[in-house]
Amino acid sequence: MMVVMSNFRDKLKDGVAQYGIALDDDRLYKFYLFYELLTEWNKKINLTTIESENDVIIKHFLDSLFPVLFEDPGNWGTTLDLGTGAGFPGIPLKITYQNLNLTLVDSTKKKIDFLNHVIKELNLENITVIHGRAEELGINANFREKFSVVISRAVAPLNTLSEYCLPFVKTGGKMIAYKSQDIENEISEAENAIQILGGKIKNVSRETIPLSNIGRSIIIINKVTNTPDKYPRRNGVPKKKPLK
Ligand code: SAH
Repeated sequence: MMVVMSNFRDKLKDGVAQYGIALDDDRLYKFYLFYELLTEWNKKINLTTIESENDVIIKHFLDSLFPVLFEDPGNWGTTLDLGTGAGFPGIPLKITYQNLNLTLVDSTKKKIDFLNHVIKELNLENITVIHGRAEELGINANFREKFSVVISRAVAPLNTLSEYCLPFVKTGGKMIAYKSQDIENEISEAENAIQILGGKIKNVSRETIPLSNIGRSIIIINKVTNTPDKYPRRNGVPKKKPLK
């Protein structure tokens, strides 16, 4: 167990060093525990297709932390991870930035059960898990325009994703979307939707994920005006008929 963990530690430490992050023993251990819980639960419920230690470190953990190249999560305030699945990018960000005030949302109940278990085992505090759909929570006054930052990875194309995320963002806050390297078409198909929903693209940043040659883009969208009351539309509509 100690030998196994030492490979994991060295690799993760090397990777995060490229972000200028030094993880202490407590955080390294929490990452390892999260990795173990992920692979253990993945035998029973479908959480991820990424399983090997190397791939989990690079494609889940280092990828989740990727925006720290451009943004300091220490300044994010109330943050929502929309469609977090097995906790990405939310849990790696929370382990690293323990003061982050984080809410995780997903529409799949078994993933919520997993996340509650992870939070208990890792002793994470100041973190809330909510089972629900973006289309329903986004019109709920408890959540609508209540977050400074909404982050999301691998949930939907940018036009649909903007209708899921922007209703939760306070004016003056921002949405941060994790996207693949080639994103020009997706952006042009989403520009009008973003404007309708009260957003404005601030910038698109590209880099490779540490310890890999996988390209990644981060799109930051500022919330400049309130989202009109009629958005998000009802369940399924943002995906079926993306705003044009
Ligand atoms: N963000 C994670 C999971 C991506 S898979 C990662 O990058 O690994 C997409 C997830 O979004 C699934 O877990 C699915 O349940 C959730 N999801 C899809 N549409 C949603 C919606 N409208 N509201 C809430 N969650 C949604």
